Amino acid sequence: MKKILFTGCGGQIGSELTLAFRKIYGNDNVIASDLSTKVCPDLLNSGPFVQLDVLDTRLLAETIDKYEIDGIVHLAAILSAVGEKNPQLAWNVNINGTVNVFEVARAKKIKQVLVPSSIAAFGPDTPRVMTPQSTILHPTTMYGVTKVALELLGDYYNLKYDMDIRGLRYPGVISHKTQPGGGTTDYAVAIYFDAVKKGAYECFLREDTMLPMIYMPDCLKATIELFQADKSRLQNATGYNLAAFSVTPKEMVESIQKVIPDFKISYAPDYRQEIADSWPDSIDDKEARAEWDWKPDYDLDAMTLDIIKEIRLK
Ligand code: NAD
Repeated sequence: MKKILFTGCGGQIGSELTLAFRKIYGNDNVIASDLSTKVCPDLLNSGPFVQLDVLDTRLLAETIDKYEIDGIVHLAAILSAVGEKNPQLAWNVNINGTVNVFEVARAKKIKQVLVPSSIAAFGPDTPRVMTPQSTILHPTTMYGVTKVALELLGDYYNLKYDMDIRGLRYPGVISHKTQPGGGTTDYAVAIYFDAVKKGAYECFLREDTMLPMIYMPDCLKATIELFQADKSRLQNATGYNLAAFSVTPKEMVESIQKVIPDFKISYAPDYRQEIADSWPDSIDDKEARAEWDWKPDYDLDAMTLDIIKEIRLK
């Protein structure tokens, strides 16, 4: 692959994944883009940046031509909590934006498109424990509805147009560089910042809410490995289950207290509790492990040590 376009590069994942791709493929070969120009300076300084709304098909096509793009990592999206506040916006950006990306990719014969799915593709009637790869997908959030549709749409384009569209169902992503963009697992980032900076945190989920999570270095590793995987091995291309560890707020507090013993927590569940209650406790990712050799490096305590060390340096 010669040149890769990132959409939504300014978000929690894009601001790190784009730089990781630049290290591998070369700064000038990875074109960063976002609707917003308020992206981290590292992105603007290290390589090309285009202000691009994924709903603007003409500019998308022009950008692909201008930079001779042959791969796309499509991260532009509206996440779960913001999506429940504005479901029409979530549908428009997540579905129409992705259809634009797929259609332009088809017309321009782009070699590969990677678009993340999410554990939000699951719903209340999905088996909650060790949720299998092939299972019931009846989400009750608009975000989840868009993720199921995108997985199916990707399958359709792969089948009918012989394209190479790939995706993975990210669990909640925990990181310290860029703030998350309005998801239901955002507490798991805020809790570390507040633990270090304030010594206390008020959590918007109940203490026993078990959710699958992943630390950013593992999220980057998984995405790069799937992007580079041998296509002939991929039987579940557009929506791989991906797991690292599952955790409740209470367990996260206990992990933090091993490093910051006087850290205090309080709980004030809000509308995001209902979203979290519709998602699985844990994920079976054996297909990802078998088909592209996925294996996480970080468990909860290893992540806690690393993220607190990094936040203290800020
Ligand atoms: P984010 O909300 O942090 O960033 C999304 C970016 O998309 C933002 O920079 C925003 O400006 C941009 N954007 C929004 N509308 C746009 C438009 N019309 N055109 C161009 N750009 C637009 O999201 P993220 O956490 O980085 O997520 C990236 C992908 O990973 C998304 O597909 C998301 O659904 C998926 N995902 C994320 C998580 C997580 O915990 N962060 C979990 C599961 C799946």
